[in-house]
Amino acid sequence: MLYGSIEAGGTKFVCAIGNEDLEIVERVSYPTTTPEETMSSVIEFFSQYQEELVAIGVGSFGPIDIHKDSETYGYITSTPKLAWQNFDFVGTLKKSFDVPVAWTTDVNAAAYGEYVFGNGKGLSSVVYYTIGTGVGGGALQDGRFIEGFSHPEMGHMMIVPHSDDDFKGNCPFHGNCLEGMAAGPAIEKRSGRKGQDIPADDPIWAIEAEYIAQCAYNTTLMLSPDVIIFGGGVMKQRHMVEKVHQAFKRLLNNYVKTPSLDKYIVTPALEDNAGTLGCLALAKNAELHAH
Ligand code: ADP
Ligand code: ZN
Repeated sequence: MLYGSIEAGGTKFVCAIGNEDLEIVERVSYPTTTPEETMSSVIEFFSQYQEELVAIGVGSFGPIDIHKDSETYGYITSTPKLAWQNFDFVGTLKKSFDVPVAWTTDVNAAAYGEYVFGNGKGLSSVVYYTIGTGVGGGALQDGRFIEGFSHPEMGHMMIVPHSDDDFKGNCPFHGNCLEGMAAGPAIEKRSGRKGQDIPADDPIWAIEAEYIAQCAYNTTLMLSPDVIIFGGGVMKQRHMVEKVHQAFKRLLNNYVKTPSLDKYIVTPALEDNAGTLGCLALAKNAELHAH
């Protein structure tokens, strides 16, 4: 038996095949262009494994429709990527593969990967954020995603601007929300350089850490989770976690007693594999529940 994983991102789709132990057997990546083009590559890839493929897990960029009883369940809905608006993702897969499809957001999938195999293992409440091209968040309670009328959009929480920061924010919906102030493109717009090209001692990182710490502060007070995991390209700055710990400590001001910060605010143990492993684990669950 084999499981399929699709991490559907705004720039690329990463598809993988995993075995029964959820070990990655093969992984490929396709650029995100149009649904017709990208999905035909995806379908061609999984077709090679059609005989043994028993379920597929998808973690998609969004917003997406996750309501099982909705007419547009399995669709990408109001994304700014126009070609993908109202695209029937799950339906398109089902036309080619008659297997259960697990369907959730890209960040939820990464959260799930960390919950099963990484820094959320054995914990009942896990929150995962990605700080990359955008900011996204997902939360799990006892292995289930927290959701209501839709999935969370924690990346767009409001934050208080840093006193040394005159950047107005670049979120098309909210201006200076967390994503508008702290995602990779905000760093680039503010400084004229990509995050990966800015040295560790640049003052911009104190501003960035302040915003991520505010995110951790809000998360702590709303959910009191067991762990908050920050992944994504921006967190590849290894010095960030320590800066976030310092700023978080100052903001929280001992109001609640959290787990020790080196275990509480962390980067993903699975690094860039969190999403793929999460999708494979979700596929396995979907297959088990189908019986
Ligand atoms: P995506 O969000 O598109 O899936 P990433 O999580 O890699 O992809 O995020 C890409 C963003 O992260 C870009 O804005 C990039 O400039 C930034 N980034 C990538 N690597 C680093 C790094 N080492 N330090 C700081 N920023 C980085
Ligand atoms: Zn926003």
